[in-house]
Amino acid sequence: MEEKNYRIDLLEAQNAKLTKSERIYRMICESSDFGYIYQNLTCDEIQTYGAFEILFGIKLQRVRDFDLLYEKIFEEDRNLVADTFFPEKEGSNFATCECRLINDHVWYRIITRIEKEEDTGYVDKIITIMNITKEKVQHSDLLYMAYYDITTGIYNRNYFVSLLTEFISRADKEKCRVSLMMIDIDDFKKINDVQGIIVGDELLQQIGSYLKSHMIKDRVICSHVNNDIFCVAIYDPTGKYSVENFYQTLKRRFADAFVMSSGQEISITASVGVAEFPDAGGSALDLINCADIVVYNCKKMGKNILQYFEAPILDDFLKNVDIENKLKDAAFNNNFVMYYQPQYYASDRKLRGVEALIRWRDAAGRMIPPSVFIPIAEKNGLIDSIGQFVVEESIKQYKKWCDFYGVHFKVSINISSLQYKKDNFVDSIMTIIDRNAVDPSEVELEITESILIDDFEAVTAKLTRMRNFGVSISLDDFGTGYSSLSYLKKFPIDTLKIDKSFIDTVLDDASTRIITESTLNMSHAMGFETVAEGVENEKQFNYLTEAGCDVIQGFYLGKPIPAVKVDELLSYMNN
Ligand code: C2E
Ligand code: CA
Ligand code: CA
Repeated sequence: MEEKNYRIDLLEAQNAKLTKSERIYRMICESSDFGYIYQNLTCDEIQTYGAFEILFGIKLQRVRDFDLLYEKIFEEDRNLVADTFFPEKEGSNFATCECRLINDHVWYRIITRIEKEEDTGYVDKIITIMNITKEKVQHSDLLYMAYYDITTGIYNRNYFVSLLTEFISRADKEKCRVSLMMIDIDDFKKINDVQGIIVGDELLQQIGSYLKSHMIKDRVICSHVNNDIFCVAIYDPTGKYSVENFYQTLKRRFADAFVMSSGQEISITASVGVAEFPDAGGSALDLINCADIVVYNCKKMGKNILQYFEAPILDDFLKNVDIENKLKDAAFNNNFVMYYQPQYYASDRKLRGVEALIRWRDAAGRMIPPSVFIPIAEKNGLIDSIGQFVVEESIKQYKKWCDFYGVHFKVSINISSLQYKKDNFVDSIMTIIDRNAVDPSEVELEITESILIDDFEAVTAKLTRMRNFGVSISLDDFGTGYSSLSYLKKFPIDTLKIDKSFIDTVLDDASTRIITESTLNMSHAMGFETVAEGVENEKQFNYLTEAGCDVIQGFYLGKPIPAVKVDELLSYMNN
């Protein structure tokens, strides 16, 4: 009896345990986001659990009801799903696949498992279905970002480089060329600054879609490589697609304005640099670098043009980069020297003054002329420290001459327009003059017309301050700009330097003679002193003297010389 009771207790306890674990499984199952299908392979009945009905919106009871389910699946994926539902047909106990629902961007993963119970012979099949849309979208976003540029929707730089590399290796085998066009939108920064970056981005996006519409699989590919730069690579052994055609198409499109969503119209032009395999280089990056150099050149030539890469452009560029690097060192090591070229009064050949001209002695001891490095220094900002050196050095040197030889003349200093634009320009010159106790009336600044085309008020204010302080102003290279004498009358100027190009031809060319003579006359009438520069021979000297020119400067009377040579000149004059 006791024995029996004990067995009943045990059974009840086991049942309770089973019921409990079944309840737990059901709870887990019902609260799951997954859908489940259970089938005992010995019969036709099936049961669904979990989120199945939510996932598909149908009820399944028999195997043939699977047809209802297939209808919910995207057509192309149906066979795959049917195979996954019945791995036993292939003699397998496991299958999995990913499928899409019809008319939807929803993705499901399906996993089917079959388990056999050895003792009972029962064969159970469980199909698990889960929504993996989020995972898929994240994955495709990543894929998208790996290949496409977010702003324009065309290939990004990395992917473009890998496609261009493929083009090049194919062209290498087939012995044909690949062209790379770098399209740089002119003045895009202005558009961004004035219209704002939203409009700027919309414009880039429109340019991107336009380029995209001209892509041809395996032949013409486009990329937005950064900011306002697009690249197009053309690889076409048949010669049907060419840079010229593409450029003409592009120009036709750019002839019409781009219309923004706000209705605003924006007209653009582009500078296009072309580099080709194999001439410009053997790798994608070579081509991109060369095209970039050509674009830089196009910008210098006034934009809105197409240019092909040629070796001299690279040489030029490398020379500039080299000079720029060396120039930076020079600016810090002060490897600059001042030379001085004498100027004489035409009437009695007495010394009127010296023009300070900078020289750069590079590491190899060569003298590099200012015409080579001043334009570069103006571009990279080094002109400030160079200009400072020129003013300090020339005034200090002049003071030494005054003190040592007891002479007084003029020291003329060339001022770059960028130097002149600095707010503290006038103060800094005055400070240097004061510090060296030099008479300001013995200092002359040589400026060029480019200064005068800026803000009239600001320019005259600075010039007037300088002149009130006592410094005189000389207008250099007169005749090469556009200014007429009557225009110059408005500016506080003391001296006019007639450009060397007039002096060069004045004896042979009647019209130059007329211009030179009338310039001299008018200049006198307006109270300017006149200096002729680049006078190389006696004939020129005599002619200019007779025509009434006040001061003569040039190789005929003296070349630019280092300070010690000026010392010799001054001591000779004193004796
Ligand atoms: P620039 O101011 O017109 O200087 C006159 C240039 O003509 C000098 O060249 C001078 O050596 C040269 N020259 C003078 N007489 C003759 C002549 O009879 N025949 C020939 N063929 N040439 C003559 P340099 O020294 O090479 O200077 C070139 C330019 O570089 C200068 O033209 C000036 O614009 C600029 N520059 C020179 N020194 C400085 C400086 O210290 N600061 C700035 N900002 N620019 C400078
Ligand atoms: Ca000068
Ligand atoms: Ca000059």
